Amino acid sequence: MKYALLDRGDRLSRELSEQFHSLAAARGLTPDDNSPDLVLSIGGDGTLLQAFHRFKDRVREVSFVGVHTGHLGFYADWQKDELQELVEFIATKEPRRVSYPLIQVDIVTDAVTSSYLALNEFTLKSVDGTLVAGLNINDSPFEMFRGDGIVISTPSGSTGYNKSLGGAIIHPSIDALQIAELASINNRVYRTLGSSIVLPKHHHCDIVPDPEEQLNIGIDHLVLPMTGVRSIICRVAEPKVTFARYRPYPFWNRVREGFIGSDPR
Ligand code: NAP
Repeated sequence: MKYALLDRGDRLSRELSEQFHSLAAARGLTPDDNSPDLVLSIGGDGTLLQAFHRFKDRVREVSFVGVHTGHLGFYADWQKDELQELVEFIATKEPRRVSYPLIQVDIVTDAVTSSYLALNEFTLKSVDGTLVAGLNINDSPFEMFRGDGIVISTPSGSTGYNKSLGGAIIHPSIDALQIAELASINNRVYRTLGSSIVLPKHHHCDIVPDPEEQLNIGIDHLVLPMTGVRSIICRVAEPKVTFARYRPYPFWNRVREGFIGSDPR
């Protein structure tokens, strides 16, 4: 078993990394940053996003596992005092592999089309204030958006930025993407739907901004400033991200733990 490890860089995460490497060496696991079978992240959900982007070109080959240095997270489902148990499982147990949908984002300019994969979401904002952009669904004009921005999330990303915007939480076994509005301007002149939209895998949406507009394009934690964008096409990606589950931690338990607490009564 070859593994790669990425930590958040704070003192605790670095100490836990060192601890993991020695426990792993004692159990015959091999560190390999180029072609790992398993990618571990130690820190938080944000660290797992970074690990995903580091290894996104090998998304079909690797499985991810996250250790959280704070409370349990949505992607990071092991805790700091469980490293020994985790290494033991990795060395001896075949995990259940669960796959979650990703979003493919194709950004079209006059010169090139660049493709990105997002694990949580794609965000579109204007650098200068109000974003004005057409939204097409399956190549038909749907609405003209005016407002702070548009957030298009994966099911597992629906508990992130999307939730703060009042979007629905979608179970990651559903192949879908969700479009949420960021402070849309709605009055007698400007009109958008106002509620989130969930698209199935065989649908896609295009966002058509003014090519002159300076945009900030977000892919998870990454922000790409861009101009000259003709359109942005979003669809459920063909590859999925895979997580190695050495013990069950159902999605709805994570949602309850994350937002309500362990005792909902
Ligand atoms: P950050 O601003 O440092 O942290 C954002 C928070 O979101 C962290 O507490 C992080 O958890 C948590 N998070 C990440 N993915 C999540 C998920 N799928 N479900 C629930 N919570 C999640 O930024 P970051 O750590 O680099 O993470 C980037 C993510 O932040 C974006 O992908 C977006 O989802 C989220 N975000 C949210 C808002 C908002 O809610 N208003 C605004 C911007 C970005 P950990 O503490 O475990 O790392």
